[in-house]
Amino acid sequence: MTKGGQTTSIHWIVIALVFLIAGYLLTREGEEALPPPIQTSLRTELALAQLGISPDWSHLDRFQNTISRDTFLDRLETIYTTNDSWKKWIEVSDTEATFITAEDPFILRFAKSDKNPPGSIWNWKKRSELLPSRNLPLEGLIIAIDPGHIGGEFAKIEKRKLNYLHSPVIEEGTMTLRTAKYLKPLLENLGASVTLTRTKEEPVTQLRAKNFPDPKLFYRTAEIRARAELINQKIKPDLVICLHYNASDSPVPIPGQHFHIILPGAFHKSEIAHHDERFEMLQRLLSGTIEEEVPLATSLAEAFKDHTDLPPYAYRPDHPYSTPLNSNAYLWARNLLATRLYQCPVIFLEPYVMNSTDFIERIKAGDYEGIKFIDGKNRRSVYREYAHAVADGLASYYSSPHD
Ligand SMILES: [Zn+2]
Repeated sequence: MTKGGQTTSIHWIVIALVFLIAGYLLTREGEEALPPPIQTSLRTELALAQLGISPDWSHLDRFQNTISRDTFLDRLETIYTTNDSWKKWIEVSDTEATFITAEDPFILRFAKSDKNPPGSIWNWKKRSELLPSRNLPLEGLIIAIDPGHIGGEFAKIEKRKLNYLHSPVIEEGTMTLRTAKYLKPLLENLGASVTLTRTKEEPVTQLRAKNFPDPKLFYRTAEIRARAELINQKIKPDLVICLHYNASDSPVPIPGQHFHIILPGAFHKSEIAHHDERFEMLQRLLSGTIEEEVPLATSLAEAFKDHTDLPPYAYRPDHPYSTPLNSNAYLWARNLLATRLYQCPVIFLEPYVMNSTDFIERIKAGDYEGIKFIDGKNRRSVYREYAHAVADGLASYYSSPHD
């Protein structure tokens, strides 16, 4: 080989190495920041939610012959969808439902009458499955508490930091974590095993805003997907309680607070069109989480009414992404990433209005032991009041006799 030939070889080796390193870096970036690569020509066909993964529809096989046609249609039409846009993706005959997928359609055969569904990914326990002889109402129950948002130094980037004149700084993610830390021992004293999805003012995901073109993909999407992975693969609870504090659109604090509970449902036309979201909606529908969620949320609503006096919140009637669950004024269905992805009954709580004058009085009072007269009533600190309302609602539901 000539000297010139060697130079050319080295030249090509260097070029190849540059490409290899660039390819590696791009792949690394891609692994962290983007959904699995999809051929561009298939991207429209494989419409997925942000950072979503193409579903394996055969996982729905476990629901064959477990649900009746009437129950399937009733749940689909009253809980999970808001209009008949689902008909583009789901065909229902007398004996089966055909789900459109990115590949061959998936066929689900109906049962003549409803049977006990085989849970979601794991067999989460219903109230009726707890030991009747248990000493404490939550004995045998695994509960995940999900303190909403991140708080601390992340409160600003996740747009959950409120700073008004003459008021302490309000960070939702910091407050939900404090609430969770009061709630955990209350539930343990009632017999439950309790895990928090986070115990610090830090994200669960290893990713950060810099990994994404839009920071929302970090704090809203990747973070919730990381929590879903933790819940669905490790904790595998019987129930997830998502703790949040609500806020209004008002640019300045005004009086007035309210409360509502969000259950998974009300999938919008554009969401049903995503293969993964449609799959996740059907998985929830078929696993029967709603049968546990509605009575449990009703019990929690009663407890919140007793502890907080907060009136029910109502979305505007033409709100395209929510549906009232008519059994109780506090209950609404919405398709949120957390309520959709956590594969067991999920209760998403939205009490208080952080930017109301009433709430600011409570924040000014701080966290304290015992009772103080604030906002017209003798009250626990807002964090402890919230935690006690949840614990009482759960105790009441799980100690009531079941059907
Ligand atoms: Zn929130």
